[in-house]
Amino acid sequence: MAGDTTSTPPLFLLGTHQPGWLARVGLPLFVADPRLRVYKTLPRAAAPWALDSGGFSELQKYGRWTVTPRQYIARVRRYRDEVGRLLWAAPQDWMCEADVINGGRVGPVVFAGTGLSVGEHQRRTVLNYAQLRDLAPDLPFIPVVQGDTVDDYLRCVDLYWSLAGLDLTTAPLVGVGSVCRRQGTAEAGRILAALHTCGVRRLHGFGFKTLGLIAHGHLLTSADSLAWSDTARKLRRPALPECVRAGRHRNCANCLNYALRWRAELLAAARTARHQPAA
Ligand SMILES: [Zn+2]
Repeated sequence: MAGDTTSTPPLFLLGTHQPGWLARVGLPLFVADPRLRVYKTLPRAAAPWALDSGGFSELQKYGRWTVTPRQYIARVRRYRDEVGRLLWAAPQDWMCEADVINGGRVGPVVFAGTGLSVGEHQRRTVLNYAQLRDLAPDLPFIPVVQGDTVDDYLRCVDLYWSLAGLDLTTAPLVGVGSVCRRQGTAEAGRILAALHTCGVRRLHGFGFKTLGLIAHGHLLTSADSLAWSDTARKLRRPALPECVRAGRHRNCANCLNYALRWRAELLAAARTARHQPAA
């Protein structure tokens, strides 16, 4: 297995709901298009960053993409030119979680449901990537593999070849979608390991939580996470003592101090995990 792992730590992109951080925080960030597109004057990036297409909330709310590829391309081009330092942009992919497909309610969140099969989600994901690439070869869209089981992900690799003529083993970066709900579990590790085994080794893990990053960071070239914000908000964690003293906010869901502290702890934990012998 040692040959399957990368020795350098993954590039970590800190997820944020605050596009203004692009100009203020000199660290790699991950920002979603729905947050950025409302800006008339865009922030100028102080560090490299990557763009999330906002696919999960789009499919959760509408059960389909309401943004056309041409609309998305126009925005990404604007971000590249006006924000600058754009590393890559996610495509308009189709996540394969059961809730996204079947619809229903998870806590307060209602999923519209696409009513489509995993195979159809994969086909649409691949065809969207091909369309973005063909319409805008100047923009850094990355392919994303989607699926439910390990075999689905490997089939998705084949689909890129058969539908788009793209050999993912040569792609500079391949996003791995739909793992955020099971990260930290053995299944997420099996999916990443299977991709490595078939030669797809430069992987970006979307929306990883702390345990997933610690357990599987060695299989990732990069990863993003907004888990810090969810933790601060959903678990109703009290704000940091200094935020309370300064009367800044009741929770730290959008707090830079909190995010930076979380990031430093995460990277330290991931470093420690990498230096421990595998169980
Ligand atoms: Zn705070």
